Amino acid sequence: MPMSDETAGGGADTTPSHPEEPHREALGTRLNWLRAGVLGANDGVVSTAGLVVGVAGATDSRSALLTAGLAGLLAGSLSMAAGEYVSVSTQRDSEQAALALEREELAATPQAELDELTRLLQNQGISEDLAREVAEQLTARDALAAHARVELGIDPEELANPWHATLASFISFTLGALLPLLAIVLPPHEWRLPITVVSVVAALVACGWGSARLGGAPARPAIARNAAGGAIAMAVTYAVGALLGASGV
Ligand SMILES: [Zn+2]
Repeated sequence: MPMSDETAGGGADTTPSHPEEPHREALGTRLNWLRAGVLGANDGVVSTAGLVVGVAGATDSRSALLTAGLAGLLAGSLSMAAGEYVSVSTQRDSEQAALALEREELAATPQAELDELTRLLQNQGISEDLAREVAEQLTARDALAAHARVELGIDPEELANPWHATLASFISFTLGALLPLLAIVLPPHEWRLPITVVSVVAALVACGWGSARLGGAPARPAIARNAAGGAIAMAVTYAVGALLGASGV
């Protein structure tokens, strides 16, 4: 976060940079959400497609396909959600521990903390006198928030909520997984594989395009990699399923 936004609050600066700051943060958060949603959906599409296409290689049974696909959908979405919960909770615990330590240091050695903040601002390319003044103003306004942002790189007002990430990955994985599941279960049996392969590749093209757009990367290689990954997954599981089906396991 550029320091100019922080200093704008203290002086007579009339540029629109200050009101712009929360807007930019909100946009960044929304992009993270979208990216997590696209990745979750992508995982759901690929893993469930691999699963049901593999089973379709071995059997024509619609109930076997439905059972395998539903089990894969639930296992995948629950495991994604649990993994997300653990990882975001751990991240939040360590952020809270760092904030608690910072709060203690601010109470015990305020002068050393002011010097530290000054030094960190100087390291960002601000002259010593100005850095001292900025540090004093930030400390007067909200010392803990200033140290959290400049020293720890976190916003104490916006610690990640593990339940948001958990729910988001559960829902996005489930929505992604529904596509190959329905595509393999609903059509008459001779149309199952072509419809599944075409709709999965189309969905992976869309996910690849979406994640490239959100990440600001060129779209074409992302689309190609994503579609190829899914196609390989389906080809491998189909070959294994067909082998198992033919050998009568
Ligand atoms: Zn500090």
